[in-house]
Amino acid sequence: MRIVMLGPPGAGKGTQAQALSQNLGLCRVSTGDIFREEIRQGSSLGLQAKVYLEGGKLVPDEIVIEIARKRLGEDDCLRGFILDGFPRTVGQARALDISLEGKGISLDKVFDIRVSPEEVARRLGDRRSCARCGAVYHLVYNPPREPETCDLCGGKLYLRDDDRREVVLKRIAVYEEQTRPLEEYYRGRGILTEIDGEKKIEEVTAEIASLLEA
Ligand code: ADP
Ligand code: AMP
Repeated sequence: MRIVMLGPPGAGKGTQAQALSQNLGLCRVSTGDIFREEIRQGSSLGLQAKVYLEGGKLVPDEIVIEIARKRLGEDDCLRGFILDGFPRTVGQARALDISLEGKGISLDKVFDIRVSPEEVARRLGDRRSCARCGAVYHLVYNPPREPETCDLCGGKLYLRDDDRREVVLKRIAVYEEQTRPLEEYYRGRGILTEIDGEKKIEEVTAEIASLLEA
């Protein structure tokens, strides 16, 4: 099964991709997580990406496409994968299609998780991410058991730099301009399913699971 999670920042792509990857035993690939890890390590890719992440802008297609191509070629992605935050432009989507076609495979489903800009702002201001393992929490909707501490690994939770309000507004605008056109792209291929992302986390997970079973 090869799945894309689409939706604005804060829609719940990572939360749902995490649940799905556990339930289906598929690898989850988050290009955002890859960039944050490279930045943490201070690699040359990290240095290149940092300025884009900090400004809420998209990393240029040629860089992202190459990162995703490499990652999807790794052994744990051979059985299938869940893409979280990639593709984000029509150029990336075309490159992904071509790369999969070359292997004789294609995407099965694209879940378009829909939430209003107001809900996005509420979610990202109170999102907390684990500095060690990348797990994601929300101070109200999905709080950690101990304040500021990851349930899974005990790592320290932090507010992502790009979850500050000014950057969030920029990211929403970038989404509308550069990523929204992917809805038409995938609708045209008959693989897009819209999901009401404003329901509770467990309800959204259940809806996606039932759509996959159908
Ligand atoms: P994305 O990967 O799309 O940017 P996340 O999965 O990181 O979004 O979710 C953004 C924030 O909203 C997180 O703090 C997460 O815990 C919370 N969240 C995710 N889905 C829901 C939901 N259905 N209802 C309430 N909060 C949610
Ligand atoms: P995310 O963790 O998915 O919210 O991504 C955080 C940031 O990483 C984005 O705002 C971009 O700067 C960068 N990024 C992640 N995925 C992509 C992508 N597919 N294309 C371009 N930039 C990306």
